[in-house]
Amino acid sequence: MSGHRTTEAGSHDQRTWDHRWGFADTQFIVHPDGAVELTGDRYPLCGYRMYDFVPYVEEVLGIRLDLRDIKPERTPKPIPPPVRNEPFLAELSGSLREDQFSTGDRERLIHSHGQTTTDEVYRVLYEQLDRYADLVIYPESEADVVRGVELAARHHVCLVPFGGGTSVSCALSLPGNETRMIAVVDLRRMNRIEWIDRENLRACVQAGIRGMDLEEALRREGYTCGHEPDSIELSTLGGWIATNASGMKKNRYGNIEQIVEKVRLVTPAGVVEHLQSLPRVSMGIQPQCLAFGSEGNLGLITSAVIKIFPKPEVTRYGSLVFPSMEHGIRFLHELAHTGFVPASIRLVDNIQFRFGLALKAHTEGMAAFLDRLKKFFVTRIKGFDPDQMVAATIVMEGSRDEVEYQQENLYRLAGRFHGLAAGAEAGRRGYMLTYAIAYIRDFVAQYHIIGETFETSVPWSQIDRVCRAVQEKAAEQHRAFKLPGKFYVSYRITQIYHTGVCIYFMYGLYTKGVDRPAEVFGRIEHSLREVILANGGSISHHHGVGKLRKDFMGATLSPAAVELVRQIKQAVDPDNVFGIRNNIFAG
Ligand SMILES: Cc1cc2nc3c(=O)[nH]c(=O)nc-3n(C[C@H](O)[C@H](O)[C@H](O)COP(=O)(O)OP(=O)(O)OC[C@H]3O[C@@H](n4cnc5c(N)ncnc54)[C@H](O)[C@@H]3O)c2cc1C
Repeated sequence: MSGHRTTEAGSHDQRTWDHRWGFADTQFIVHPDGAVELTGDRYPLCGYRMYDFVPYVEEVLGIRLDLRDIKPERTPKPIPPPVRNEPFLAELSGSLREDQFSTGDRERLIHSHGQTTTDEVYRVLYEQLDRYADLVIYPESEADVVRGVELAARHHVCLVPFGGGTSVSCALSLPGNETRMIAVVDLRRMNRIEWIDRENLRACVQAGIRGMDLEEALRREGYTCGHEPDSIELSTLGGWIATNASGMKKNRYGNIEQIVEKVRLVTPAGVVEHLQSLPRVSMGIQPQCLAFGSEGNLGLITSAVIKIFPKPEVTRYGSLVFPSMEHGIRFLHELAHTGFVPASIRLVDNIQFRFGLALKAHTEGMAAFLDRLKKFFVTRIKGFDPDQMVAATIVMEGSRDEVEYQQENLYRLAGRFHGLAAGAEAGRRGYMLTYAIAYIRDFVAQYHIIGETFETSVPWSQIDRVCRAVQEKAAEQHRAFKLPGKFYVSYRITQIYHTGVCIYFMYGLYTKGVDRPAEVFGRIEHSLREVILANGGSISHHHGVGKLRKDFMGATLSPAAVELVRQIKQAVDPDNVFGIRNNIFAG
């Protein structure tokens, strides 16, 4: 299948799938006996047979899967010839080396989408996109970027910043009505740490560095950045800033806006930046804040000064089980207002908890016996109902004393809400499972199952209302569209704050026999977002708006605020060189 071809981005040597998620050595496969396996050895979930995977999917979706019935991928891909702006190309080739730009079909296709399930990945694999990149540029320095922006402005070329391509908000979907040549600017060759300031604990880093490479390089020097989104393997520093990203360890290190001290944004009007890097400053309106959440609309982020932290002495996983979601949420609420909040804590509902179990190795003999014993303890002795119980996974990080203090207090507090310690290994597996989610999405897609994740932030008081509203709406829509089987909705709480939480939903549908499945899926997802906002949730907690959530900006910003953002765009980019049209600029 052509979707199984792989590419090397910039100078990175870790090959990735062209259009699907992740690394080329990793994919879910199914064995003739029905067992599912994750290939390679990248994750703890790799290399063993999961016999409960397919039965779990069948149970939650109320279907029987025919594993021979694979949705055929569209090949060859329908890529039209590029729009060519010859004067621009002529000047560009005088400024860059030949290997710094490409009009090849493969490069163009890879840079024409992000990872949004239906509107991007599904359409690349099975249908077609509205618009394809005409050119891909690989700058290697800020001077290359400045020159590219200047040429694009002069020759009326549209530029689109591209980081890791992991956007899940259609922020990288190219506007179908763009008639200018679209040049996608892939920043991943700008991937160096320029300097480390050990005394003040900060580093200046080029924006195209991938999270994993940043973390590895810092760890070699004895530091960490602490920003760990689930996409850390492929997303970049510039992308994090442009989307207002959030990492799982934000309790200890902060969200991206707390980690970045200073940022450089190259716009057609010049470089927007603050001239000093300081811990905090009271200086009036802070123009560099415009880079956060800019979603490619204003310019190219080329570098940032970020906080760095000494590598933690100890990283310790943990896990807890609770009799119900309500118990777990009450525990989180109490925990959020204590002094022993761990770097990360996530609470998964019963459906996701059981999914975790379904991905375990098939157990036999003594291991099966021990598993049964554990189950007996949890379900009988403590009176937990296996269909209600939920789990929390925990990462504690810091000095040994700090971690001991957190662990002791956290488990004691959990006891007040009938929480039971479930071991470090379950915690570690829970986090590793996160890395497998998008591989699972791509695996099940070939069996006509469309799945997507979406997130929101809500005040503590609205958690229950929002979750119930999503369930009810999903059920109503399932009936209205007369869809086969059952809908899949599960959720987890991934971040806790003083005033509320981030809820991360997973939604799935079996679409065999459904007319225009991607469109149906999109409409239902839109209606779920509507009820989230109607019940007090936000447009997004960290995925951003892109084009997917553009319809909800009216419920997010006042008209005067929208106009202000328009004027800012007008000031820095009057000719709309950065014409990706996300957020309020989306059509
Ligand atoms: C499996 C998976 C897990 C995820 N987990 C998380 C998570 O835990 N937390 C989270 O916050 N997000 C998560 N995401 C979403 C995504 O990874 C983030 O939005 C990420 O910040 C995007 O970074 P990127 O480098 O891939 O940017 P891209 O996807 O390449 O681009 C995203 C947007 O930013 C713009 N952009 C990119 N680089 C620059 C730059 N240098 N200058 C200006 N604009 C730029 C693009 O034009 C586009 O509008 C996840 C996505 C997937 C697929």
